[in-house]
Amino acid sequence: MSKLDRAIVRVLPAMPRSLVRRVSDRYIAGTRIPDAVRVVSRLNAAEKMASVDVLGEEATGRRETQEFVRAYHDVFEAIERERLDSNVSVKLTALGLNLAYELCRANLFKVVAHAAESGNFVRIDMEDSTTTSDTLELYRELRAEGHDNVGIVLQAALRRSIRDIHDLAPLRPNVRLVKGIYVEPQLIAYQGFEEVQQNFVRCLHELHQAGSYTAIATHDEHLLTEGKRLVAERGLARDEYEFQMLLGVRELAADKLVRDGHRLRIYVPFGERWYQYSLRRLQENPKIAGYVASDTMSRLFGAGDRH
Ligand SMILES: Cc1cc2nc3c(=O)[nH]c(=O)nc-3n(C[C@H](O)[C@H](O)[C@H](O)COP(=O)(O)OP(=O)(O)OC[C@H]3O[C@@H](n4cnc5c(N)ncnc54)[C@H](O)[C@@H]3O)c2cc1C
Repeated sequence: MSKLDRAIVRVLPAMPRSLVRRVSDRYIAGTRIPDAVRVVSRLNAAEKMASVDVLGEEATGRRETQEFVRAYHDVFEAIERERLDSNVSVKLTALGLNLAYELCRANLFKVVAHAAESGNFVRIDMEDSTTTSDTLELYRELRAEGHDNVGIVLQAALRRSIRDIHDLAPLRPNVRLVKGIYVEPQLIAYQGFEEVQQNFVRCLHELHQAGSYTAIATHDEHLLTEGKRLVAERGLARDEYEFQMLLGVRELAADKLVRDGHRLRIYVPFGERWYQYSLRRLQENPKIAGYVASDTMSRLFGAGDRH
């Protein structure tokens, strides 16, 4: 972590909300469903698919988890009404995973059932390593009960991911492969930048071996190249994989993927809880504060490199 990153993280909570909002504006669609609809429509018009995320995690009570379930219901209605090309991403701690497994299970089954009503799909985001086993178990439970409109996320940073891929292989899971955003202990997670890259490529290879539909979710140029290489080597058709990126990140690279004929899905977070989300994300992984800072600097000073 650079000195600049550390300094930014320290001052963040003291920054006026309006400034945090300005910094995170580009990465968040807005606070309400019409904001998400507007952003997803714009992405769809540019031939990009979307995955809408209702911002929030670590719900503190049953009522709050039910609000998330309702919010996702409204999102599915909007997607259908506006004929958007979008699925959704959910965080299990927003649905109560840290409160009670059974509560989370009931909420998740409702969200997945709502999705099925309109032929939609639910991606279960992966949170920190304390939630990994429960998250995969809930996924297994869904699949065991015949819910196939659901997918998971695996993190290349975690040493266990290769084993998880092998264990889940009989289900041919639909997987979003990411590096992993959470800071995890060395015992369970690769720490080196290149180690994580190598494991990402290894995981992608194993997912292909397992016949999994895989979303390659990265902005890392090396991994984009490796992803394209593995997909080509395997002779996958256009609709047998996808790339994914975050809203507002590396937009030129995103456009290039689309121009080159790949399918790309953009992660679109929105919601009232944008402030807590921005703050926690930035504090948990100060590297991102570094990206945001350099990005803001270049916008303020006109360098404008959106690579
Ligand atoms: C669609 C999607 C969904 C994700 N879902 C999850 C999840 O469920 N669980 C999880 O743990 N992680 C998730 N992540 C985050 C992921 O784990 C990484 O932390 C993140 O993608 C950065 O890693 P990278 O592969 O892009 O490579 P990096 O080397 O970290 O980034 C490459 C370049 O991309 C740019 N960049 C990357 N991230 C940002 C950012 N946030 N803001 C500005 N610039 C940035 C920078 O220019 C950087 O140099 C998701 C990522 C994506 C794209």
